[in-house]
Amino acid sequence: MAARQRIVIAGGSLAGYSAATELTTLLPGSDIVWVTGEPHRTYSKPALSKEFMQGRSELAELMLPDIGGETKGLYTLRERQCTSLDVSARSIQLDDGSGIDFDQLLIATGASARMPDMLRGVGGVFSLRTLDDAMAIRARLERRPSIVVIGGGLIGCEMAASARALGLDVTIVERLGSLLDRPFGGAFGSHFLDLHRDNGVKIHMDATLTDIIIRDGQFAGVRLADGIEIEAGLALVGAGSQPCTEWLDDSSLAIADGILCDAYLAASSNGIFAAGDIARWMNPVYGLQMRVEHWTNASAQGRAAARNMAAATGRPELRKPFADVPYFWSDQYGQKIQMVGWHVGHDRIDIENDGGGMLARFYRDGRLIAAAGVNVPRAVMKLRRQIEQEAQGLEAA
Ligand SMILES: Cc1cc2nc3c(=O)[nH]c(=O)nc-3n(C[C@H](O)[C@H](O)[C@H](O)COP(=O)(O)OP(=O)(O)OC[C@H]3O[C@@H](n4cnc5c(N)ncnc54)[C@H](O)[C@@H]3O)c2cc1C
Repeated sequence: MAARQRIVIAGGSLAGYSAATELTTLLPGSDIVWVTGEPHRTYSKPALSKEFMQGRSELAELMLPDIGGETKGLYTLRERQCTSLDVSARSIQLDDGSGIDFDQLLIATGASARMPDMLRGVGGVFSLRTLDDAMAIRARLERRPSIVVIGGGLIGCEMAASARALGLDVTIVERLGSLLDRPFGGAFGSHFLDLHRDNGVKIHMDATLTDIIIRDGQFAGVRLADGIEIEAGLALVGAGSQPCTEWLDDSSLAIADGILCDAYLAASSNGIFAAGDIARWMNPVYGLQMRVEHWTNASAQGRAAARNMAAATGRPELRKPFADVPYFWSDQYGQKIQMVGWHVGHDRIDIENDGGGMLARFYRDGRLIAAAGVNVPRAVMKLRRQIEQEAQGLEAA
């Protein structure tokens, strides 16, 4: 018979939601407190920069199914933020001054959008991480401003593609010499450049932002190091993200660009786990510590962490390491762009282009560690098993 325990989940997006769903099933009658930090029910984020931004999907379509509530032992605290963790007292504090004791804690507070200091707090400058961000951007797009996108990574390129789908004037400013460089490990750089240019986006590469232009108290554009001025009524910033660990600064948890976890998603203190964008865990597939900011990872890790937490309450058969081949996708101008595996540390890329689509294979020491594709979804997914086998036991670079 499982002992009744209080489990606290911090974070109300996909990883927290998946864990809450799994725990209410595995441990019926448990005492699960879910501090979501959100005003909304859990929603899916990928559409925010795609269909939702383009006005092709509405709020209700983003919402994940309701999990149920107190009858399942789940107590949801919306719009409450965790402000600190006391590991030895086994309690968290909330922004309303209250505290919650726990037997086990899952940290799923994800990541937030990075905003360069120069752009922080400037009206007319937006990043995109939450539904509220997306609604604010959508409202501004109705005024049909010209747009400067700061950062040519995944979110930046998706926002550019969505703004072009709305017929808006778009310029991308990218610090590096290639678009989508980090997520795709340098593969397909010239394809992504042509794709955006062919769809009418102006692009400044190797560009450093030096200044913003304010006219009549309004954002009016940006200035680059080479003196070029880009006029724009709206700046959309895709400058990457950072794990939301600031509320844990005074805890003794081991943190290094994410919460350091073992293969079971257990953090450095007993009974504390992490999942999703915030977790830097030892992935047994690669034998490497990694932090993955993908939808499928947050969903699967939330469930895996929940099972390992349930294992500690009298269900030992559920304990299992989280071994996974990461996967993500992006949609831009109708192209299906995918990556499976972990390309970091590759020493060779082979690219096949048959005219209909492109497939990149990433190798390390002759072993396949990742694959990426444009419009070849089946070919990419077929390589997953091979990657899983060949990546086993890679040492850190
Ligand atoms: C615009 C956009 C598009 C994306 N598109 C794709 C895609 O096409 N493909 C793909 O694979 N992935 C995509 N992703 C990534 C994917 O959505 C994330 O990997 C996923 O949302 C991570 O879920 P998470 O629960 O770990 O963290 P998050 O989604 O970051 O959620 C963290 C949660 O914790 C809460 N929180 C934060 N701090 C506190 C606190 N102190 N106390 C309490 N709660 C707190 C937040 O309110 C939030 O609810 C996209 C992300 C964005 C933003």
